[in-house]
Amino acid sequence: MNKQKLLSLLPSVDEILKSKKGSQWQEIYPRRYVLKAIREIIEEKRQAILRDELKEISIEAMLPDIEHRVERLSSFSLKPVINATGVVVHTNLGRSVLSEEILENVKRVACGYSNLEYDLEKGERGKRYWHVQMLLNEITGAESSLIVNNNAAAVFVCLSALAKGKEVIVSRGELVEIGGSFRVPDVMASSGAILREVGTTNKTHLYDYENAINEDTGLLLKVHQSNFRTIGFTKLVGIEELVNLGRTYNIPVMFDLGSGCLMDLRPYGIYVEPTVHEIIKSGCDIVTFSGDKLLGGPQGGIIVGRSELIEKIAKNPLMRAVRIDKLTLSAFEAVLMHYLDEEKAKKEIPTLRMLLQDINEIRARAKKIATRLHREIKDDVAKIEIVEDSSQSGGGALPEVEFKTFVITIKPENLSVNHLQERLRHGNPPVIVRIKEDNIILDVRTVRDIEIKPLVKVVSEALL
Ligand SMILES: *Cc1c(COP(=O)(O)O)cnc(C)c1O
Repeated sequence: MNKQKLLSLLPSVDEILKSKKGSQWQEIYPRRYVLKAIREIIEEKRQAILRDELKEISIEAMLPDIEHRVERLSSFSLKPVINATGVVVHTNLGRSVLSEEILENVKRVACGYSNLEYDLEKGERGKRYWHVQMLLNEITGAESSLIVNNNAAAVFVCLSALAKGKEVIVSRGELVEIGGSFRVPDVMASSGAILREVGTTNKTHLYDYENAINEDTGLLLKVHQSNFRTIGFTKLVGIEELVNLGRTYNIPVMFDLGSGCLMDLRPYGIYVEPTVHEIIKSGCDIVTFSGDKLLGGPQGGIIVGRSELIEKIAKNPLMRAVRIDKLTLSAFEAVLMHYLDEEKAKKEIPTLRMLLQDINEIRARAKKIATRLHREIKDDVAKIEIVEDSSQSGGGALPEVEFKTFVITIKPENLSVNHLQERLRHGNPPVIVRIKEDNIILDVRTVRDIEIKPLVKVVSEALL
């Protein structure tokens, strides 16, 4: 058939809309997407005819393509994925996972009206932060607290409220970039505070801070190095020493802790840094940390410290721009409630549970998944094994701690690992994995029990 003839046989949008499938689609999907999908597929066929790639045309043959397109257009863009990387606080995969119980509280508050900013005792306007202040003070030992949108906002608003137009002394070893464009010097500049850097990349002494103090000094700032470490010939000034210096000169001391650990992990063999409670106890005036890193809550930036300074921060006009909503607040209240009892926190907060998981539990899960994969996948399709490995906590937290884990290695026989990784990423649900030495690695530390079945399905289908 010649091109002209083929082109004249292309159906119109109307014809397809009036077909049985066409009317079904209009009941299920938004009409604008049905129209868009039909138009796009007709156009693609037209182009294919012009390129001599299509030798016949029929409505029937076009319907599956259109259906596929309209399904894709109408499906959610933000959707669950299976995290088989073993990185517990994975920023690209949404950081901390919230439990059903925590979400129950969000639902309870969000599906109706609430006393968000209403004081039920006095019958007058209340403050939204009241709902979590007592909990935060209880857990961290701080006099007062606030929660803003994220830790970046927390640092920003603190600097602006406490040191605008004044000098803030920071060690050159702590002028870090966290990723996602959070760089200490840039945050400082846009907050209106003046960065006064002291020391060198590898060594900063207490006298470096002391020599830099003058009548314009507004704050002594310590920043957690998060996901990097300087090793070898190094020195950083500890928070206690800095607090003593601040006291001597009557200058407040702030610590951007980044991840921030609320629970003592030493009993579990993990110790790299003091808890927020210990830092407050050392006399630090303001501490900021993330809500969705090690803490295991929703996105947020927590500010704890001395009441007088917290009040000053609360009054800053920026607070209105970075305030959290009731969904976040109710999730925080539920998460923080768990921290009142550490045994409970360890069980009920998914981030902590995944990090502190017993190695035998991980091994058992790996075995269960591997057994099912062996049942579905023939030996000549892929080689599947269980091996010992280590996982990372992620989120710039505890980078030097290696968490012992068990992973499933998959070596495909008729497919490159990169191709298999891509197929897994396009699975339903998508499965996100690591590649190591020409093997696909499934680290089951971060795979939930309810995800085992879909994981096995997606992996088996990807290898077909
Ligand atoms: C992660 C981190 C931040 C940014 O926190 P977000 O909650 O992601 O905004 C700031 N400072 C340090 C030291 C961090 O580790």
